[in-house]
Amino acid sequence: MTAPKKLAAGNWKMNGSQEALSEVDQLSSAYPAPGCGIVICPPATLIPALSERARGTAIKVGAQDCHAEVSGAHTGDISAKMLAEAGADFVILGHSERRGDHGETDDQVRAKLMAAVDAGLTVIICVGETLEQRDGGSTLDVVRGQLSGSIPDGLTAANLVVAYEPVWAIGTGKVPTTEQIAEVHDLIRSEMTRRFADGAAMTLLYGGSVKAANAEEIFAVANVDGALVGGASLRADDFTGIIRALE
Ligand code: PEP
Repeated sequence: MTAPKKLAAGNWKMNGSQEALSEVDQLSSAYPAPGCGIVICPPATLIPALSERARGTAIKVGAQDCHAEVSGAHTGDISAKMLAEAGADFVILGHSERRGDHGETDDQVRAKLMAAVDAGLTVIICVGETLEQRDGGSTLDVVRGQLSGSIPDGLTAANLVVAYEPVWAIGTGKVPTTEQIAEVHDLIRSEMTRRFADGAAMTLLYGGSVKAANAEEIFAVANVDGALVGGASLRADDFTGIIRALE
């Protein structure tokens, strides 16, 4: 699976039931040949049904987490290989809700990332500062630390997408200024270019309260190649406005 250079990825989090799958039908008929990649990351239970539904369309399916082992005594967990078998092409790793709710460390995220790549998944890795860290002036150090701690060597633009998601912007309706987004995306681009031969081609997403009304302004920022979208990806009507701004 190659990551499309321009990408709109929807993170449904712990939302959505079988009925929500019709939103995907709406998306696929609205965008039979979109000018960007579209990925929907539903709860794991919906991955098989959604991939079946999306077969033959432009929509790809992703998971929201995976375990670092291929199999074993890990009750309640799902391996990357299992997700791939269920129909996922992508997986979100290191989301701040996983780092916060489950205490995931950079080391754990890195181990999961390696397992995901081994299973053939493209990883959307999330980094971003808390409000305290931003107010304390350490945003760039925090992001630099998460990039080096969570991302192993040897990756390519085909299996890694980086999402900058300021924790304080997720689900809050607060969005950084375009200057603040540009500063962090420039840092991520230069880190990726320094570490990876095709770092200049890697897809970099912004995430945090993206909606149709602010998408165009955000996508105009240098080194922003798309968005990771939570709330506004749940309904096709909302998500299509974001996709339209990206195409
Ligand atoms: C997210 O959870 O990845 C996210 C960006 O959420 P929202 O768009 O709802 O802020």
